[in-house]
Amino acid sequence: MNDRLLERAVEGEALSVQEIEALYHVPLPELAAAAHEARTRRARPDVVTYLIDRNINYTNICNVACNFCAFYRTDRQKDAYVLSFEEIGRKVEELMSISGRRILMQGGVNPKLPYEWYLDLLRYLKDHYPQVRIDAFSPEEILGLEKITGRKAPELLAELKEAGLDGLPGAGGEILVDEVRAKAAPARIKAEDWFRIQDAAQRLGLYTIATMVIGFGETYAQRAEHLVKIRAQQEKALRDYHNGYAAFAMWTLQTENTRLKGKAPGASAHEYLQQLAVARLALNNIPNLQASWPSMGFKVAQTALYYGANDFGSTMLEENVVSVAAGHNRTHATVRQIVRHIADAGFTPAERDPHYNILRYPDVEAVLSERDPELLPMA
Ligand code: SF4
Repeated sequence: MNDRLLERAVEGEALSVQEIEALYHVPLPELAAAAHEARTRRARPDVVTYLIDRNINYTNICNVACNFCAFYRTDRQKDAYVLSFEEIGRKVEELMSISGRRILMQGGVNPKLPYEWYLDLLRYLKDHYPQVRIDAFSPEEILGLEKITGRKAPELLAELKEAGLDGLPGAGGEILVDEVRAKAAPARIKAEDWFRIQDAAQRLGLYTIATMVIGFGETYAQRAEHLVKIRAQQEKALRDYHNGYAAFAMWTLQTENTRLKGKAPGASAHEYLQQLAVARLALNNIPNLQASWPSMGFKVAQTALYYGANDFGSTMLEENVVSVAAGHNRTHATVRQIVRHIADAGFTPAERDPHYNILRYPDVEAVLSERDPELLPMA
């Protein structure tokens, strides 16, 4: 029974929710072998990709107040901030100094920032750094802009695109089943709105990625439902807009400095690897799956390359959200660290763009012989 199910998944059949649920009961080595076989068929078998980019969190003021978030502040807290355009520009320059050309920019939902601020920021960045692409403002922030302006995502996204937006981060996916979301973050964007805004972005040709976070205490059935919803949206986007999710990224809930500490189970490395393998087998129409070094560390991320992942994520430079909730300081990875871990795991490292086009194959020996650059101090 397991053999036939795994065979069908490897061949790329779309499994039902019940069939995906059954995958969680397959012994992990068998599941991993099938996921790795599926990965070798859907992505270059010998290559693992990575991206040089940086995260920028333009404000930490947020009125959504998710229970699992240690990053946000109210505007009355002493360490609340909104970065100036010049400060953001300096962060872009740091990225450019290590040859990166993509920023992933997100913040809290700050009701005091007017819509024009977002348009002006995009214009400022495109004006000063035209070669840098901007993936910014997750569905939650776009929903916040809908509330501020009383206008709908398709219109707003078209204007943001015109001002310089290239794509949206996939944040806010977590588990796209409202019952799970309601417990973890009652004011969080609902699953329907998350997909509605992603759909509007995909229709406009903007870049998107799909995400998942496990460890809220969700059931296997709810995880399977999440994956089936993503697969359905991908099918629609590819069919109707020829522009689906570029990748799928998943990580585990971190609760260290949050109100969920001691109240949500989180997920072990075993569960992370199991979930990644299940995702690879369930998402037959998304070729690129990322390993998550920020949540799991480099060693588990390396192992993930044999559980369905074909990508090592990105340098990030300033990851402020997962790291603060995890209580560790894994805020960035150097190219040297990424290349070393990919090569040590037995794959050829390849630098890519956000759309997973390969830009170059670094000379591994040369990269490993370099010293890691001193990263500039963060604001
Ligand atoms: S996760 Fe995002 S939306 Fe939720 S509180 Fe943190 S910054 Fe706000």
